[in-house]
Amino acid sequence: MNIHEYQGKAILKSFGVRVQEGIVAETVEQAVAAAKKLKEDLNSSWVVVKAQIHAGGRGKGGGVKLAKNLDEVKEKAGNILGMQLITPQTGPEGKKVNKVLVAQDVYYPGESETKEFYISVLLDRAKGRNIVMYSTEGGMDIEHVAEHTPHLIFKEEIDPKVGLQPFQARKIAFNLNLSGEAFKDMVKFVTALYKAYDATDSSLFEINPVLKTSDNKILAVDAKVNLDDNGLFRHPDFAALRDLAEEDPTEVEASKSNLNYVKLDGNVGCMVNGAGLAMATMDIIKLAGGEPANFLDVGGTANAETVKAAFNIILEDPKVKAILINIFGGIVRCDRVAQGVIDAYQELGNINVPIIVRLQGTNAEEAKALIDNSGLKVYSAILLKEAAERVKEVLAL
Ligand code: GDP
Ligand code: MN
Repeated sequence: MNIHEYQGKAILKSFGVRVQEGIVAETVEQAVAAAKKLKEDLNSSWVVVKAQIHAGGRGKGGGVKLAKNLDEVKEKAGNILGMQLITPQTGPEGKKVNKVLVAQDVYYPGESETKEFYISVLLDRAKGRNIVMYSTEGGMDIEHVAEHTPHLIFKEEIDPKVGLQPFQARKIAFNLNLSGEAFKDMVKFVTALYKAYDATDSSLFEINPVLKTSDNKILAVDAKVNLDDNGLFRHPDFAALRDLAEEDPTEVEASKSNLNYVKLDGNVGCMVNGAGLAMATMDIIKLAGGEPANFLDVGGTANAETVKAAFNIILEDPKVKAILINIFGGIVRCDRVAQGVIDAYQELGNINVPIIVRLQGTNAEEAKALIDNSGLKVYSAILLKEAAERVKEVLAL
């Protein structure tokens, strides 16, 4: 699960990681009030207004703006809130901005230069270890750095059983060419950052840029956080961090009905129980000359309700020319699934693409009889081969 920058920073702060302070706002008035408060509390009269969307590269797309007074806060927040922000990570349609983070300006001049670094903590699945990846080249695309100057990216492997060791934190600060106060602060920073990553069961904590301020403090200016879905049950309070407005609407609808749905580009919708069978079904569709329009695993309980929800989701895609339902009746009986398909079909009343149903397993014969006698534009098959041939036939029509 992805979360917003402001939420990631709140988590970091709770683990003692210094962050660029800010207040989230959903309206221009709230943004101005936030800027006033930052001035009172932190004496920060310049602020940055930062679009909150689940995508990076916001600065490049015009989603991060410096404001030097309250009039500018009003103007910049007004421009950013509600805009369709296009960044290299959003795709050409962009993402609508519903919230901004009004943050203290941390690039103020002082006794020494400011310096931007890149630091992330992530999981290396192949090695079964966590990795701290870091670079002196912060603030820009890390992909660009990796491609053109790979020797400027360092990796520190962490044994998850013992965590980040003090010598490793010092090595990181050393490789980032820090000394004095900034060195000490960086050691603290990475130690707390690793702790935050570990304790929240995250799969990614990416801070780009990490800033050395002109008074030698180390702080997180940005935060891209990915919480591991498989660990969410251990953190019930994280459920509140989910922002459905940032997710694909069809996939959200599918997950509400406990369906595993991934949209694809083809013309044959499929509805299958079990992820492995779904993959095999997609192969069969291709063999028959079609292209799967989606991956959809309805899970173990394929009743009329789930079948109906699945139909609705598949039919939202105008490219779908046929639907192949492939259900193996192990725990669930085929005749119940068949009845579910018939009920859903009749209830929806708007299905005008042919449907091929292949039911195999417990009560498969009864199920086929139910479908064949239903009088609907539904074709039954017991063998997968037959189903594939049916798909081929209806696509040729
Ligand atoms: P991203 O573009 O989505 O990665 O968003 P970031 O949070 O990384 O911000 C983009 C850029 O805005 C940073 O690399 C900085 O150069 C700039 N920026 C962020 N905070 C400040 C600030 O407090 N003052 C100034 N002057 N620039 C900032
Ligand atoms: Mn960034």
